[in-house]
Amino acid sequence: MSDQLQVLNPATEEVVATVPAADAAEVDRAVGRAIAAQRSWAAVAPADRARLLRRFADVVDTHVEELAQLEVREAGHVLGNARWEAGNARDLLLYAAGGVERLLGKQIPVPGGWDVTFQEPLGVVGVIAPWNFPMPIAAWGSFPALAAGNAVVLKPAETTPLTALRLAELALEAGLPEHLFQVVPGYGHIAGRALVDHPDVAKIVFTGSTRTGREVMERCARLVKPVTLELGGKSPNIVFADADLSAAVDPFSFLDNSGQDCCARTRILVQEPVYDEVRELLADALAAVVVGDPADEKTQMGPLISRQQLDRVRSFVPEDAPALRGDAPDGPGFWFPPTVLTGERHDSAAAREEIFGPVAVLLPFTDEADAIRLANDTPYGLAGSLWTRDLGRALRVSGAVRIGNLSVNSHSAVRYWTPFGGFKQSGVGRELGPDALAAFTETKNVFISTEGPAQ
Ligand code: NDP
Repeated sequence: MSDQLQVLNPATEEVVATVPAADAAEVDRAVGRAIAAQRSWAAVAPADRARLLRRFADVVDTHVEELAQLEVREAGHVLGNARWEAGNARDLLLYAAGGVERLLGKQIPVPGGWDVTFQEPLGVVGVIAPWNFPMPIAAWGSFPALAAGNAVVLKPAETTPLTALRLAELALEAGLPEHLFQVVPGYGHIAGRALVDHPDVAKIVFTGSTRTGREVMERCARLVKPVTLELGGKSPNIVFADADLSAAVDPFSFLDNSGQDCCARTRILVQEPVYDEVRELLADALAAVVVGDPADEKTQMGPLISRQQLDRVRSFVPEDAPALRGDAPDGPGFWFPPTVLTGERHDSAAAREEIFGPVAVLLPFTDEADAIRLANDTPYGLAGSLWTRDLGRALRVSGAVRIGNLSVNSHSAVRYWTPFGGFKQSGVGRELGPDALAAFTETKNVFISTEGPAQ
């Protein structure tokens, strides 16, 4: 152990906890322990592995409130969201447990024998999680991997290690084998990189910025190590003139989690005839958002995660920029008001880059072709919404946009039972959904001759 991580409450800037940071040697030891744990886990009967994961879900269930309060303190999430997040970890465990006994191979007709495929675990999986949704994203990477028979070494973000550490304790309490699910809190360039470079880590699941994701992929390529990457987004909310505007103009489509959400609909693309009406609706909606103490049940939006993130968000919003603005508290804490920039061009930095704060841009479009062109004119392709009462148009636009998670007449959130991931530079591979476990297996093909050994 080399260093200490100071975990701050982003609403008060008070120190919540101090956690030892793992160095490369500690990561190496964790991987060594995980190799042994994985061998015995893979040998446990599937029904027993599933039962243990369901017991883990039960233990998480009895700690939902504790985990939620921890998320409020370390990440500044509003309480209602934090409770949902802990519940999401529990529900994903139950869903993944249901997959253990359904991890089926195939029997393929061949001449001269039988051909059978097996889905075998990879071994030790490294999960690198970000700070924006520390608990769900750690769970999305880790729990399907465990269910598929792997061990997991998880590196949480340096700012938010506490819920991950607690989940690992709860796994032990539920009876999961020691060292099967380990957490190595630490710095990305030390502990994260050590996991990526470790020859005995069979796969990396990374969620974070496209810049770091690219580096992770390059380093994994040297070892021909597979990756799942969930990266940035600049998601459109496409509002046609015939849409139900009161539903389409939901400020929480980009303010949820203070905008620190890779799926945030931060490009509000509005057809010209209803542009002014949408602008009015947004102005009223922003003024009504309750920003403040995330532990207060009535609060709708909390602080940003850190001073660094606050500075980054500020850099996109000059004081004199034409904008609709809500309120935010003064004093300690990393506060930024809900903001919609109204004077941006489609190619300006605020309209193109992932800001990761409570800031959206409002941009007009002329017709369907223009909407599709603007929606696709980005290196990202993670999420988006599309609002129209014209079914044919909904289907045409759904087919034309290069987006991994699209909601029609909805701003739906991520579901653990449907696939999640991005097109283009928003990522590689998919998490969650019915195929989540398969992403943590190798397919082995075995041919069994019925001809018998040569005499
Ligand atoms: P990063 O992508 O740098 O961090 C994500 C995770 O990767 C953290 O656990 C981090 O550790 C780790 N990491 C950092 N460097 C390396 C490395 N060289 N090798 C392996 N792991 C590494 O994101 P930031 O926290 O720096 O946020 C910057 C921006 O990224 C945000 O403003 C936002 O735009 C975007 N982002 C997107 C997310 C998403 O869900 N798509 C999530 C988070 C950020 P450590 O915490 O020590 O840095």
